[in-house]
Parts: sequence; C-alpha cells; structure tokens
Amino acid sequence: MLKNDQLDQWDRDNFFHPSTHLGQFARGEAPNRVITGGQGCHITDREGTRLLDAFAGLYCVNVGYGRTEIADAIAEQAHELAYYHAYVGHGTEASITLAKMILDRAPDNMSKVYFGLGGSDANETNVKLIWYYNNILGRPEKKKIISRWRGYHGSGLVTGSLTGLELFHKKFDLPLAQVVHTDAPYYFRRDDLDQTEEQFVAQCVASLEELIEREGADTIAAFIGEPVLGTGGIVPPPAGYWEAIQQVLDRHDILLIADEVVTGFGRLGSMFGSDHYGMRPDIITIAKGLTSAYAPLSGSIVSDKVWQVLEQGTDENGPIGHGWTYSAHPIGAAAGVANLKLLDDLNLITNNHEVGGYLNKAMADALGDHANVGDIRGEGMLCAVEFVKQRDGRQFFDASDKVGPQIAAALLEQGVIARAMPQGDILGFAPPFCLTREEADEVVGKTAKAVQAVLG
Ligand code: PMP
Repeated sequence: MLKNDQLDQWDRDNFFHPSTHLGQFARGEAPNRVITGGQGCHITDREGTRLLDAFAGLYCVNVGYGRTEIADAIAEQAHELAYYHAYVGHGTEASITLAKMILDRAPDNMSKVYFGLGGSDANETNVKLIWYYNNILGRPEKKKIISRWRGYHGSGLVTGSLTGLELFHKKFDLPLAQVVHTDAPYYFRRDDLDQTEEQFVAQCVASLEELIEREGADTIAAFIGEPVLGTGGIVPPPAGYWEAIQQVLDRHDILLIADEVVTGFGRLGSMFGSDHYGMRPDIITIAKGLTSAYAPLSGSIVSDKVWQVLEQGTDENGPIGHGWTYSAHPIGAAAGVANLKLLDDLNLITNNHEVGGYLNKAMADALGDHANVGDIRGEGMLCAVEFVKQRDGRQFFDASDKVGPQIAAALLEQGVIARAMPQGDILGFAPPFCLTREEADEVVGKTAKAVQAVLG
C-alpha cells in the first residue's frame, strides 16, 4: 500500500477534483480525505476514522454501504459479459429486466426507459427528446425549457443552465438562451413575511403565468422540477404547489419533466416523488437511487404520450440519432436489478417513513427553539436545518460568515457527515435508508452540539 504522504502528494499534483477549490487544494490549503471502506451507514478513511455518513455520499447510497448482494451481482455480470452496447436493438438480460422493473414501479402512463450514466446526461437526453418531439409535431419554435431558481439538474451545458444556482452559471457563460427560470417554491424565503402558504403558492403560479405570457406559450416546450428541491436547500413544496403548477402546464400544452434523481426509488417514503405529490410528469429522470451508486446508471422514463411521437419520428427519419457508448451498461444494469430487489426485500422504503419521520421530529425537538434556527423541514429520509442571524424579521447571516460550512465542519469533527448546502446557511441530511433510530439519535445529538459550538 502507498504511504499516506505519497498518496497525498499524488492527489494534490494530479487529481482535478470536481466541485473543489482548485488552487487551495493543489497548494495543500484545503483538506483531502481518502475513503477506503463502507458498511451500513458508515464510511472509513485511510487514517481509520469511522464516520456516520448522514448524506449517503451525495444522497445516492440509498441501501447503505457494503451490500454483498449488489457487489456479487456486479462481479457475476463482469465475469459473464462486462460490456456490450445497446444500439440497434442489442441488450442484456440485466438491462431488459431492469427496464421492466422500473416500469413496474413507475406511474401508469409511463412507457419506456432510456438508459444513461448519470443525472446530468439523463436530463440532456430529456431536453433533446423534447426538442425532437416538438419538431416531429411541426412546432419547431416550441423549444424553451422552464426551470426554477435553486433547482438542480446537472452540470452539463443545457443541464447546468437548467440548474438555478449562481455558482453553476458564473464564468461558464450559462444559462443558454433556451432556458428560462421561474420562482422556487421556497416558502421560508418568501419576500413577504405576512404571506400565508396559500398566498405564496398563488404568487408562484402567477409569476409562472407571467413568464409564459412574456415568452409566449408557443415557444415553451417543458417545465422541469424536482418534487422536493434538493441541492438548492432541501425544500419540500408548500401544500397544493404541484397541483396548481400542473394545471398551468396543462393549459399551455407544456410538458413536465419530474427530476427524480434524488427522490426516485423511495427517498420520500414513496416509490416516486411524483406519486407523493400527485404530479403527472411526461418524463421522469432517475439516477442515484437506481443503483444506490454501486455503479453509474441513469434513466429517462418516457410516457406513452411522448413515446408515440418519438416512434412516429423514427418511422419518418430513420433510427433516433441519440446514443451513448455506455447506455444500459450491463454492470450498471446488474447493480440496478440487485438494488431494486434489496429495496423490496428489506422494506427500506417503509423505513424511510418511520425512521425518516423520527429523524425529522427529533431534529425539530432538539433545535426548534434555538435562536439561530429559522426553519427545520424535511420529508421521508430528507431533512434540512436553516440558520438565521435573527429569527425575528428572519435576518440571514452574510455568506462570508460561512455559518453553514462551520457547523458542518464541527459536526464532522464528531464523526458525522452532513452537507452544507451551496446557497444559504443550510445543513442537509439525507442518510442511507437503513438508518436506525439509534443512529438518528446520534446524528441529532451531535448536530445540536455542533450548533452550540459555532453559535452558542
Ligand atoms: N438532478 C438532480 C435532482 C440531482 O440532484 C443531480 C445530482 N445531484 C443531478 C440531476 C445530476 O446528476 P449527476 O451528478 O449524476 O450528473
């Protein structure tokens, strides 16, 4: 095994890490951490430190670490057939079985699954399919996509544009012109503090209507949204939000893409967030929880309505000109089949109701009265704590105070990983679905201590 200082030097000298301060890291001013193992809700680093991972990697290791059932399925597939492509009708037993398993779990109007590698490429696929769809329907001008501020949909060109976070646009010349943004359904951050939730939903709807009016409904192809805003702050929608948005979209013949990269396969305590909130999407994006990140795999689940038009397009124009070398990669597909079986066999989605509910309640009991806690919110196995300088009048800290990152660091010192969300002082929790009540108690107890250490 390499010595730690050798590995550290190679890391600093050679590895371009994503979402990292490049200069600080290369100069050794920002920490590195080499992860060597994982079991259940815990990971271990090279120094032997064991950490409770209350963010499941990047909310993706849903069944937890160290599942031999998935590891064995991957090994078997690699021995038998590591790769063959899926172009011109090729497939493997794993990819065909997985498509069937996904459709069995998806809303009834869904028809087919297109496989990719990660959430970003799946959303790129969705936009291309929708452009193709409108071209076949003879509406070449109906192409814009509406996304929400604080939405997260990926880091590609179109998906980085859909992402409504400043960091992902700044200095990258994004967003692209085909993407327009509307309000986030973020009640806690409403402008008018006197507004009721109902009034706030009405305002979100009115501002969407205005945007559609301004741009022209005949130029807008689709609306994309996460059932619960994730990276933008872990924000469940206010009551009635999705029903009201859905009505506007229907009225203007605008398709809905439900980005279920985080919420798909059980995180909210329902199989899909679309079911949870009564959304009626035309396309659903899936990734992370599809394989619990044991192998890279994503998918675009396409509704019957969209599929019928795509089919018509290829009858007229030849095969669809869209494919990745690794679409439906057999190893990812084998991981997906084993992962979805585990979710069922271990009843892990039900656990999200029970232990996720317990975690959210315990967090509210422990921190609800703290003078600097403005909001505690969550759904299923998702939870967020938002910090404020002052509750009265809801005054926020300056971003330069780095309150969220400081609290996350104080928590890490006690051996618990939570995520300081990128915009605002928000501590996010998204543990693996196998979290126990005892582990939830540990997360909450140590979070309270971290908050006290930083804010008193
Ligand atoms: N959509 C959502 C809702 C996500 O949370 C993410 C990743 N955090 C993505 C898309 C992009 O997925 P990936 O990083 O796998 O490209």
